[in-house]
Amino acid sequence: MIPFLNLKSPYDELKVEIDSAIARVLKSGWYIGGPELQKFEDEYASFCNAKYAVGVGNGLDALYLALLALGVKPGDEVIVPSNTYIATWLAVSKCGGIPVPVEPDVGTYNLQPDLIEAAITKRTKVILPVHLYGQPADLDPILAIATKYGLKVLEDAAQAHGAYYKKRRIGGHGDVVAWSFYPGKNLGALGDGGAITTNDPDIADRVRMLGNYGSKEKYINKVEGTNSRLDSLQAAVLSVKLKYLDEWNLRRKAIANIYMSTLLADEIILPSILNEVQSAWHLFPIRVEKRDLLLAKLSEKSIGSLVHYPIPPHKQDAYLRLGFSEDAFPRASAMADRLISLPISPHMSNDEAAEVAYSVKESLGLS
Ligand SMILES: *Cc1c(COP(=O)(O)O)cnc(C)c1O
Repeated sequence: MIPFLNLKSPYDELKVEIDSAIARVLKSGWYIGGPELQKFEDEYASFCNAKYAVGVGNGLDALYLALLALGVKPGDEVIVPSNTYIATWLAVSKCGGIPVPVEPDVGTYNLQPDLIEAAITKRTKVILPVHLYGQPADLDPILAIATKYGLKVLEDAAQAHGAYYKKRRIGGHGDVVAWSFYPGKNLGALGDGGAITTNDPDIADRVRMLGNYGSKEKYINKVEGTNSRLDSLQAAVLSVKLKYLDEWNLRRKAIANIYMSTLLADEIILPSILNEVQSAWHLFPIRVEKRDLLLAKLSEKSIGSLVHYPIPPHKQDAYLRLGFSEDAFPRASAMADRLISLPISPHMSNDEAAEVAYSVKESLGLS
């Protein structure tokens, strides 16, 4: 049996350190903010090559508060990928903004830069690329387009902790970068958590104020804020796990390399990775014609697999009001019909990866 993901494995590996971090917070009596949060924010900012990190309640809030901090107002347009997880779009609509989808490159699954300009209007404020499945989007052309049109860039890095774009870690390329520490992410908390990183002190300041009731000084409220903070307990656990993130991403890469070298077949479309990036390998998606058959066969063999994502946002009832036709984004739709993600995690062995690869080929009648 090979599960898609075992969320307890990281705890089993780091039990002594995590238990002691939790005990430290419990004994300190400081449960919101304080030194544990400060310590993690400093460590995470420096890990990401960014000047500032601000902890927030979850990844959706990181995106939402970042958009507010960039000045997105009701009616403003934000360019988003057509094939992302729906949270990216929801953050835009939560500010009253309008998600304007652009199709991905069919090899990398990330926003295709040369399709962006056609989607820009007078109301466009922000370009919101997602580093989907752990691979950084092609940021340089996106940043160049943003500069040309006076737009801001917010990156959704919920799947890309520790990934590199051209020798620099994700975290400080765009105006602001949003992170999720949902338990299943590459850097996962023991519950919900999120952060933004940025090199802009005003953006960092605004996100912190917006997540703290619109207040910087106790009982002085400058704007209508909300409550979205990263718990001290989660920050302490994340500080422990951050030390192992690079090592764990290397394990993911080793699993990815096994899949890349053993799943070479005309029937299987492997992810293509840009030359100058290092993926964080959050997921390992392949595309196959007989996707549903493969899902069923792997399940029979007790091998976990999932689809990321079965229904693109434009086809969800939640976005009926935007009035997109079913076939408005054929690339996103085709991906939703053909993608299947294989198990990949730092706690999987090479033998297990080889077994998954063998089972995939066997299921498709390729061995
Ligand atoms: C997980 C995820 C989010 C949302 O993060 P939460 O912490 O669950 O709110 C946003 N965008 C992408 C691409 C994600 O994978």
